Amino acid sequence: EQDPRIEGIASTIRVVPDFPKPGIMFQDITTLLLDPKAFKNTVDLFVERYTGKDITVVAGIEARGFIFGPPIALAIGAKFVPLRKPRKLPGEVISEEYVLEYGTDCLQMHIGAVQPGDRALVVDDLIATGGTLCAAIKLLERAGAEVVECACVIELPELKAFYLHFSSAKCEVLDWD
Ligand code: AMP
Repeated sequence: EQDPRIEGIASTIRVVPDFPKPGIMFQDITTLLLDPKAFKNTVDLFVERYTGKDITVVAGIEARGFIFGPPIALAIGAKFVPLRKPRKLPGEVISEEYVLEYGTDCLQMHIGAVQPGDRALVVDDLIATGGTLCAAIKLLERAGAEVVECACVIELPELKAFYLHFSSAKCEVLDWD
């Protein structure tokens, strides 16, 4: 049975057809952020799920993982680590490339931000193919962390999911709540 807060959250997300290019139904979470109750409920649902799971690091994916990740990290007492697009981080980095519909993209993480033994939660606004989350999982595992779970607000194409469970070894979606 779905948490009653999820319907309220879903109703605040604006769908913009053909942005940023024809054929894409863009899921705009900026309208969720305009509704303080929906924003709080979103963070609370994740905090309730991840409190007491010994998560030591919340890794947020640029850019919208930087909006949902930090309040979750603060509430569960974990550090926050940004996973950024190339050439944004000033220190030494490790990189993971991933394939997009057209071309490739890349995520980078500061060396030393994550240590062996860290237990990680990866946060982004949305999963479509899962390619971005897989790159994030690989970065964290290369640094020696265990990825406990990935958390997204929106799943494409059905918009039904709120959390997902990844088999971090295979980068395969196992289950949806
Ligand atoms: P993917 O790697 O295919 O799972 O794509 C997920 C990433 O692309 C996330 O960082 C999303 O923010 C972004 N994204 C993909 N499709 C959409 C969409 N329809 N609306 C908003 N963001 C999207």
